[in-house]
Amino acid sequence: MTRHVAIVGAGPGGLATAMRLIAKGYTVAIYEAEDRVGGRMRGFELGPYRFDTGPTILQMPRIYEELFADAGLRLEDYVTLLRLDPNTRLRFWDDSVLDLTSDLPAFKAQLARLRPDLPAAFEHWYIEHFRKEDVGYKPYLGTPVRSPIGYLKTNELAAAMPFRPWETLYDHYWRFFQDERLVYGLSYPSKYLGMHPSACSSIFSLIAFLEFRYGIWHPAGGFRALAQAMGRAVTDLGGRIHLKRPVRQVWLEGKQARGLIMEDGERIAADAVVVNADFGYAVQNLLPADARGRYTDTKLKRMRFSCSTFMLYLGIDRRYEGLPHHQLYLSDHIRRRERPFVDDSALDETNPSFYVCNPTLIDPSNAPEGQSTLFVLVPIPNTSYGVDWQAKQQSYRDLILDRMPLLGFANVREHIVSETCYTAVTWEQDYTTYLGAVFNLGHDWLQLGPFRPHIRADQVGGLYWIGGAVHPGSGC
Ligand SMILES: Cc1cc2nc3c(=O)[nH]c(=O)nc-3n(C[C@H](O)[C@H](O)[C@H](O)COP(=O)(O)OP(=O)(O)OC[C@H]3O[C@@H](n4cnc5c(N)ncnc54)[C@H](O)[C@@H]3O)c2cc1C
Repeated sequence: MTRHVAIVGAGPGGLATAMRLIAKGYTVAIYEAEDRVGGRMRGFELGPYRFDTGPTILQMPRIYEELFADAGLRLEDYVTLLRLDPNTRLRFWDDSVLDLTSDLPAFKAQLARLRPDLPAAFEHWYIEHFRKEDVGYKPYLGTPVRSPIGYLKTNELAAAMPFRPWETLYDHYWRFFQDERLVYGLSYPSKYLGMHPSACSSIFSLIAFLEFRYGIWHPAGGFRALAQAMGRAVTDLGGRIHLKRPVRQVWLEGKQARGLIMEDGERIAADAVVVNADFGYAVQNLLPADARGRYTDTKLKRMRFSCSTFMLYLGIDRRYEGLPHHQLYLSDHIRRRERPFVDDSALDETNPSFYVCNPTLIDPSNAPEGQSTLFVLVPIPNTSYGVDWQAKQQSYRDLILDRMPLLGFANVREHIVSETCYTAVTWEQDYTTYLGAVFNLGHDWLQLGPFRPHIRADQVGGLYWIGGAVHPGSGC
């Protein structure tokens, strides 16, 4: 008998799950509250400008290739992925610049200019990570989560120990490089894991390695095109996607999921329900109180969630030729080891690090001829820290525009034709993201693998979670 699955939300997790389930013979229908698929990567338009909302960095395209291939499709029939070079340009607090690139001879030449012994140190680090990828990626990140006891396999532990998983990212990079530019430059992805390098496990040095090894990619047409591609794949495979169909609650009988109760009161029966809506929001809003299990409000408050992001989406009447797609300014404040710098518990109103994506050069479809869009991201406290954004939004926008010349974007203010701004409150309210914590739950040891919320709900039969809060974690 064909079993029917109802999925709440057409974020990347919901779409990928639909593709996999259909390929396994299930019938699938997705119910999405918004008018388009993609969740945090759905994108939007402002007049003639088209913007990605969230993700801009795509690593390991093979994950998408495998997803499509497993469903009997070819990724290249749906979207074209473009490789970037450099991967990311980093500008440091001391004004030095490092282009992270998969062109390793070019990268080592830059390192030699920073310090003559750094190329050899990098070589050592890089070679070690081939083995670390074998030992760390497949058994831990690339396979379903096990029980805590399931991880106590002597052969796996013996293979993992030489990589010192207990070490922090900071200590890991310092051991190899003894240069804080390399330490912070290679560990900046820890922000996306909701953590400071001095608190994040060194297992995540794999992220920097995978970036060197496999590059960074941009979907032609933006990440919104990747979302649309997955949406098309779902319908081509025979799944149904219902847009503007908000779900009010998971329909339960006793401790068994029976389907969905829609905002308009309609009941939709299903053999299983997959919730792709943001975990914290969904636990509070889509489950009856007696079905939340241990995820009470008190428990949610005790869990550690990521930072949020302040965003400027700018449509401008010029192009910044010659500036890379991804650029990151790492301020001196990233080196501070005390609150609020380690936990983003207060707004940095003097010297914040920030990131700018300049997508039009590689992807001119997002702006009129000769014009462009810019995407500016600044890590900020999530809403649990109570920043008054009504009072701060304008001055923060001005501060960030004033700082954009640090990355080569001179006189941006004079060229802005259209703009919109997101704060933690936008992510919380318009994107139903708990606390506006856009990178979801932090990835500390107590919130990793078996200690993250489980994909199969503990308390309710036939209910499953998918997305950034469950194993293996945030990202798309
Ligand atoms: C600013 C920013 C930058 C990022 N950068 C990157 C990056 O460079 N690389 C990367 O890999 N990741 C990045 N991420 C993270 C990435 O976007 C997320 O991890 C990913 O989108 C999470 O996907 P998801 O499937 O969990 O759900 P989401 O994207 O959160 O989608 C959930 C969906 O559920 C829908 N929904 C919610 N409630 C209901 C309801 N009641 N009824 C029906 N539908 C509902 C929502 O409308 C939404 O479509 C970034 C995120 C942000 C915000």
